[in-house]
Amino acid sequence: MMNSKNTDMVEIAGWVHEIRDLGGIRFLLVRTRDDIVQITFSKRKVSSELIDKVKTISRESVIRVKGIISKDERAPNGFEVIPNSLDILAIAKSPLPLDPTDKVVAELETRLDQRFLDMRRPKIKSIFMIRSLVVRAIRDFFYKKDFVEVNTPKIVSIATEGGAALFPISYFDKEAFLNQSPQLYKQILMSSGFERVFEIGPIFRAEEYSTRKHLNEATSIDIEMSYADDNDVIRLLEELIIYIYRYINTNADRYLKTIGIDLKIPTRPFKQVSYDEAIEIVNLEWGDDFGSLEEKKLGSVIGEHYFIREWPLKSKPYYTMPLEKDRKILSKSFDLMHPRVELASGSQRINDYELLKKQIEMRGLNLDNFSFYLDAFKYGMPPHAGWGLGLDRLIMTMLDLDNVREAVMFPRDRRRLVP
Ligand code: ATP
Ligand code: MG
Repeated sequence: MMNSKNTDMVEIAGWVHEIRDLGGIRFLLVRTRDDIVQITFSKRKVSSELIDKVKTISRESVIRVKGIISKDERAPNGFEVIPNSLDILAIAKSPLPLDPTDKVVAELETRLDQRFLDMRRPKIKSIFMIRSLVVRAIRDFFYKKDFVEVNTPKIVSIATEGGAALFPISYFDKEAFLNQSPQLYKQILMSSGFERVFEIGPIFRAEEYSTRKHLNEATSIDIEMSYADDNDVIRLLEELIIYIYRYINTNADRYLKTIGIDLKIPTRPFKQVSYDEAIEIVNLEWGDDFGSLEEKKLGSVIGEHYFIREWPLKSKPYYTMPLEKDRKILSKSFDLMHPRVELASGSQRINDYELLKKQIEMRGLNLDNFSFYLDAFKYGMPPHAGWGLGLDRLIMTMLDLDNVREAVMFPRDRRRLVP
């Protein structure tokens, strides 16, 4: 909505959200990006030419109105607009494949099929207005902490962690893949002396998921930090989560209200359990991984954001720093958990060339494929640590969404390649 110099003249452009016809008077609710404004066409105050024109408009058509603001307690924002002019910018066909007024609730699949219409709904649009502000908060946070934003390649020659499912693509005469994580590149950047890097970018996983928390294309917030250990990057992650929650509470109040969320800011420090303590709580054998059931049980016992630390070395990728404790081979690794789902994984990394080589070989991976990575460890690699945090899961848990796909504008899953 644009206020012109003349105090109560306004120009409004948007979609016709609702039409209410009371015989002598017709109300149009016009939906702009952030508002719903009532335009009142009454025979007493509006020319008969406009009255005739407004009758030709279908719901969800795009119009532009210029008019005068007038207070009215009954209107959505406490005011209505009495129009002087009306431009019909685009007529919408009917019937609509999806109702953008929240009066009819459609299944998620139907909504995703018609995502452009689904996102016209104020509640759904608010999710993405908040997602944008979350990304802004993240950049804000890292620039304040002296991090460098980087972009690493998404077309790569090998799997980051070996074995895991990758999407193959054709790259001229070579075999290539979509990257599953920026891990190797952000580590290489430590050897180049960038000290603190972050990247917000896509990661691709080619598994045939059928869960509420997995996407085939996700967005990851990845960091790597030199002269840091696992404790340092755990603290940084805690700080970031709280920074984001505070930022959203302060800057996205109207969107939270539209969704109906009362955002509780987590308290620091987050609880920490060791892997050994965690398997005790859910009755698993040493070496087992937590399934969805166990994650749920841990979440209900602990009840808020928490870390699981010191995982068995063999449960974590080859670049993870080993830790010997009570004659067990553990690692300087951690997962950040929300009671519903894993949000992030991280660790201190191996920075010693010989040890890294040994770990890659021990996992049965072919050293030759890793030479571009290993070279960066030969000529002076500082100690470093980092993590990867899933943006989509962060939004899903913040906004209490049922399914991670609701946190993505155009999700990619097992069956969905369009829109
Ligand atoms: P999970 O065990 O839950 O499948 P992961 O341990 O394979 O996750 P990581 O490789 O540790 O995932 O990636 C770091 C973070 O990126 C995860 O904690 C998660 O938030 C996010 N992430 C990873 N894979 C996906 C995915 N397929 N869909 C959505 N988010 C993902
Ligand atoms: Mg993980």
